[in-house]
Order: sequence, then structure tokens, then C-alpha cells
Amino acid sequence: MRAARMHGRKDLRVEDLPPLGSPPPGCVRLRVEACGICGTDLEVYLHAQPSEEPPLAGSGGPLTMGHESAGVVVETGADVDLAVGQRVAVEGHLFCGECFWCRRGDYALCARLRSTGQGADGGLAEEMLAPARICLPYSDDLLPEQAAVSEPTSVAVRAVRRARLEPGATVAVVGGGTIGLLVAQVARLRGAERVVVVEPVAERRALAERLAADVTATPHDATDVLADLTGGVGADVVFEAGGNPEAVRSAVEWTRKGGRTVLLGVSGGSLELPLTSFLLSEKELVASLSHTYDVDFPEAISLLESGKVDVRPLITDRIGLDQVVSHGFEALLAEPPAHLKVIVMPGGAAPGR
Ligand SMILES: [Zn+2]
Ligand SMILES: [Zn+2]
Repeated sequence: MRAARMHGRKDLRVEDLPPLGSPPPGCVRLRVEACGICGTDLEVYLHAQPSEEPPLAGSGGPLTMGHESAGVVVETGADVDLAVGQRVAVEGHLFCGECFWCRRGDYALCARLRSTGQGADGGLAEEMLAPARICLPYSDDLLPEQAAVSEPTSVAVRAVRRARLEPGATVAVVGGGTIGLLVAQVARLRGAERVVVVEPVAERRALAERLAADVTATPHDATDVLADLTGGVGADVVFEAGGNPEAVRSAVEWTRKGGRTVLLGVSGGSLELPLTSFLLSEKELVASLSHTYDVDFPEAISLLESGKVDVRPLITDRIGLDQVVSHGFEALLAEPPAHLKVIVMPGGAAPGR
């Protein structure tokens, strides 16, 4: 069984491993058909030490990466409803189901949370094991590569839910990468009347206009564009998907008084917030973390199945497992504007599908 294993900073190796064996009760073994690579994976690739740092600490050694997986059930453990041969998308959170947060349904806040690819072996492999409850069937209308993008789509679904959009809202999305372009599409579907995408790269602005944006702006002209569009009021909701503190500061600034700024990037760094003006403007700063398997993820899958959210234009690269470093991680680092969603197909791409 071949898998892409993290051994340390920028040390990802495609290796032969022993077969996974039969899944434990409640779990399934999947043949992985597609697995996306995202910004979070890049952060882990650049910074993590599998045996030392928290995101990977659960493994105590090399770890198979990948948390945006879709596969076919090849074997089921006891007490599993899924059938062999069923295609599923994997939500990815391994939560305890018993702690304070799990009992509230806030699974991403689980006190003992791990995820596939972070703390537990993930989907950049020919096969993976996963709890059946986080493996959601999808219809034949979707290709496995689209199903793999359910995970980032559910990030957008949750962020839009957390934004409590009102019909007719003006929404700005900072960052026109995969997450930003998904948030723009979902916000439009959930009642936003005007969607502005703020993004420095011209090709991504053009794609944003094709998919969901009424207007696009560069970070330099966004202040003027938003002022013109809203009569100086500002956006009702600003989603920050870019991930650096400077962008977060701008996002709060572009939010109207009484409006909401939603953070969904993983950036590190910290934010200096002028508290007096923040108080006087009664803005809300809301964080949105990943997704839940029972609410956000099924909604994401149905948005993809219905074609209301289109992820096909976001998939820029389809590569094999052996190319995961050269054409995946290193390509994303070398030339970020040239790639949006990179999909790894461990079994090879099926031509014409
Ligand atoms: Zn991701
Ligand atoms: Zn828990």
C-alpha cells in the first residue's frame, strides 16, 4: 500500500507500507480515488515536525497526510451501515463524541480532536481507514475529484452559516483562492445580493466574476470600491479567507458598523485592534472553524450534487501519488497563482470520467 508520509519539515515521502488490514468496529477501509491538497496541508508541510508539534502529535511518527478525501468502501468493520462498493466523501474529523463540545454538536471543538492527515493517517494514500459516520455517500452525478472538494466546500458552508447573512446583504470576500471562491458561491446562494471578491491575482479575479462575484477589487483599491458600492457604509459581512493579519485588519475595516467579519483562514500572527473604534462601531468578529459531519458536510455534498456550487473550475491540477511532492506541494509553493485545487488520484486519473 503506497502512501505519502510526513517525516518532518518538507520531508514528505511516498512509501510502500504494509496492508492496512481489516477495519475496526464502526470503521471502513476505503480505496482512495481522489484527495485534495490545501493551504493547511502546505502549512503542515512547511512547519510541522511529526513527532513534536501538536497537529501531528497523535501519531508519534511519520503520518500519512491528506484530509480532503473521497473513496470507495472496500471493507467494513462491525456495526457499519455502508456497503462495499459505495462511493463516499470523508469529512475527516476524528472526534470523541463524549466531551462537552461533542455533546453540543460542536465536533470541530472536541477536546480530543484529531483529523485524517493531522494526528491520524489521511487520504494521500492508495487506501485509508475512517470511521463510517464521517464517510458520506454521494451520487454518481459527481466525480470523485468533485467529491473530494466537499471538505473545503463545507468550510464555506459553515462560514456562511456563522455569518448569519440577511437577504439582500452586501458581502465581501477577502482572498480569491479555493476557499474564498467557494464562500462567494455559497454566500450568493444564501441570500447575498452583492458579492465583492478582493484578490490581487488578475486570473483569480476573472474566475471570481465567472463564478459568483458582481465586482472584484485588488487589496489596494478595495476600500474605494466598497465605499462606492455601499455609499460609504461598508459591507454587511466580510469573510477573511486570505489568512494574514494585515488582511484581517482590512477585513474589519471594510465591515460596516454593526456588521460581521468572519475569519476562516489559518494564518498565525496576531491582530492589533483599535478597541475604542471597535466598540463604537459595534462590529462582530466571528471565527469559523472547519465543519461538522452531520450539518455542514451533507449540505456541501448536496450543493455540489445539485450543481449550485461549481468546483470544476477550481480544480487546476490532477496528479498521481508519485507526483505529490514535485507537482503538488512544491508546485504550490513555487507558483501559487498558477494552482488552485490540486487533486491527487492515487489510482491514476480515469480518462473521460
Ligand atoms: Zn483543506
Ligand atoms: Zn469530543
